[in-house]
Amino acid sequence: MAQVMEGKTLAEKIKAEVKAEVRRLQAESGQVPKLVGILVGENKASEIYLRTKEKTAQSLGIVSEIRRFPQSLSQEELIDQLRILNEAPEIDGLLVQLPLPPKFETNRVIEAISPEKDVDGFHPLNLGRLFMNEEGLRPCTPAGIIELLKFYGVSLEGQEVVIIGRSLIVGKPLAAMFINENSTVTICHSRTRNLAGIASRADILVAAMGRPAYVQPELVKEGAVVVDVGINYVSEASFIEKIFGDDPKKRQDLQEKGYTIVGDVHPAAREKASFYTPVPGGVGPLTVAMLMQNTLLAFKRRRQLG
Ligand code: NAD
Repeated sequence: MAQVMEGKTLAEKIKAEVKAEVRRLQAESGQVPKLVGILVGENKASEIYLRTKEKTAQSLGIVSEIRRFPQSLSQEELIDQLRILNEAPEIDGLLVQLPLPPKFETNRVIEAISPEKDVDGFHPLNLGRLFMNEEGLRPCTPAGIIELLKFYGVSLEGQEVVIIGRSLIVGKPLAAMFINENSTVTICHSRTRNLAGIASRADILVAAMGRPAYVQPELVKEGAVVVDVGINYVSEASFIEKIFGDDPKKRQDLQEKGYTIVGDVHPAAREKASFYTPVPGGVGPLTVAMLMQNTLLAFKRRRQLG
């Protein structure tokens, strides 16, 4: 019987630890961390994600604020704003909610964030430090995945890991983290030949492709650990019925919200796993928890607090 890896449980534990540490440091130093999230243009999903981050931060005693800018903002103006926020002494964490509207060059914008405030861990300096296996701010989703596997006692050393997806947010940094844990890593992507052959070798299979229920049982080795990063908003009732049958929760979602969230892993594929992450409630909650941990870390380093 496959065991569920509840990201929610671990996320609550991490947040409680951050909260206690924030409280302790406030009592000792009179200072509190501050996190600023930037939202450019209108994007419903981004607005929800950013508000969740703001609310979570506030619930842990971290001062948090969203700065909203119109779509008409130019890249130069955005970079100027970032420079101002980089210089602001009271701000410890600074993130730009992605995706940016298409006219922006995301990499140029990320490069403009001060590496010491880059709580998303996407700045080249922080990614470089990750590849060098040195301390730095780590990208939140991959860091959460490693924490979750360790929490459930999954051994990483020497394990054959296959990651499907090569984005800078998930697949690539996660590969570096597994290598740092002495795993043997393969990254697959949209041009990979024989995906099923490679994926089905994996002791640990990570699906981070953004394709609802794409990972079918034939991609999973019996007893593998399966991590599902995918968050796909699906509104097509016939598709949901085909995958989940008459699942009452999914039916209720469709009726009430007009969509339901589906991971990249087909439910039938989970049955072959020894451990798997659910969607929702698996990797998702950990991403925000790790962001809080990064904000605390940036705060302590910048202000030299122990
Ligand atoms: P992305 O679109 O940047 O990258 C997707 C990757 O999947 C690409 O490298 C692509 O080559 C690969 N891919 C796509 N189709 C494929 C196929 N048929 N076969 C093999 N490879 C294929 O996406 P992303 O930002 O890395 O996000 C991936 C998924 O993870 C999305 O569903 C996203 O919503 C989710 N996500 C979740 C969290 C979280 O907190 N849980 C965080 C980030 C992303």
